[in-house]
Amino acid sequence: MSTGTIDLHTHTTHSDGSATPQELIELARAKGARAVAITDHDTVAAIVEARDAADRCGIEFVAGIEISAEYSPGTMHILGYCIDERSLVLAEKLNRLKIARETRNPQIAGRLQSLGFDVDYSEVARLAGNEVVGRPHFARVMVQKGYASSIQDAFDRFLKKDAAAYVEKARLTPADSIALIHQAGGVAVLAHPYQLNLSSYKEAEELIGQLAQLGLDGLEAVYSRHDAAQRTRYAEIASRHGLLVTGGSDYHGSYKPDIEIVTGLGDLEVPYELLEAVKARAASRSRRQTDEVQGAFN
Ligand code: AMP
Ligand code: ZN
Ligand code: FE
Ligand code: FE
Repeated sequence: MSTGTIDLHTHTTHSDGSATPQELIELARAKGARAVAITDHDTVAAIVEARDAADRCGIEFVAGIEISAEYSPGTMHILGYCIDERSLVLAEKLNRLKIARETRNPQIAGRLQSLGFDVDYSEVARLAGNEVVGRPHFARVMVQKGYASSIQDAFDRFLKKDAAAYVEKARLTPADSIALIHQAGGVAVLAHPYQLNLSSYKEAEELIGQLAQLGLDGLEAVYSRHDAAQRTRYAEIASRHGLLVTGGSDYHGSYKPDIEIVTGLGDLEVPYELLEAVKARAASRSRRQTDEVQGAFN
């Protein structure tokens, strides 16, 4: 049976969400979802706890991740699905990204201080509570101290790209991001394509075509902040390039208070059959890898 709704894009307290893995799984279940993926930025730390919670409450769990790739003029995030969270190659790359954040974060604190704000990095790290500390945590501290009226306001005035406290982040190239997800046994999907910030669908399609050449498997056409026209246009682009379509809310709890898990801004509905296609692609990738390894011994 392939009915039911799902959410393939969510964040927990292990990155910049406000729900613990168990809370997130329970929220998705309460919303009636049949399956949920956790896609924390640059970490797989939520996965074991989430899988246990999902087993207990009878919802299907998909191990995921979201990786930030080098790109301008906008944002390029690559989602990985059905990854093996124990992959050593993945662990090694993620550790490097974590070390890079440890250099970047005190620099962001320094910029905010030189703008006259009393923001100490240790309090931001304490609030974040886990390994992946990022701009949303700085934004939350700015709100708590009365320097900004909301997380969005803190981004708009200080933390967004090119704002006064913005510091570049170490990223993998798009090719390396896709290859890493494949090496970890996963399926690579371009997240929220509207954030590429290109001026036309034609330009977006050119870039997506290049990513498909690099091995990209899918496109997140069904996204909470995409309107109906965007969902249709990106699904058409996906089909022209042999890409899967996926969907998710990008739930971050109180860090993005307008977005609800599973239903997004209220109109999100991601059908279970999209996940079936993702799982089929992951299985065929792993079969191919096994064949290649066996071929090497024949
Ligand atoms: P970081 O990895 O530290 O650069 O933080 C990236 C996270 O900040 C993203 O996942 C978003 O959740 C959030 N973010 C990035 N840009 C903005 C923006 N302009 N407004 C609100 N949130 C943003
Ligand atoms: Zn985030
Ligand atoms: Fe993202
Ligand atoms: Fe996300």
